[in-house]
Amino acid sequence: MTLNNIMQYIESEYSIINNTHCKYCNGMFITEEILVEVLNTGALDVFHCTCENCGAEKTFKFNAPFIGVPSQYKLN
Ligand SMILES: [Zn+2]
Repeated sequence: MTLNNIMQYIESEYSIINNTHCKYCNGMFITEEILVEVLNTGALDVFHCTCENCGAEKTFKFNAPFIGVPSQYKLN
């Protein structure tokens, strides 16, 4: 993956978060923290978000194919 691919990937993750509304008040989520979780099966991008309206917390997890994924799990 090129840096450009990575940027597009992260943008698509943000667009998913931006299109997800709080189940309590229908507010928007703000990303507080981004972590990378490394598992045996690959890496995950973990976004810790809070609702800007009521403060409800939500964690989004996405596959992070560009971060240290064992070669057997690469898609292409
Ligand atoms: Zn809310």
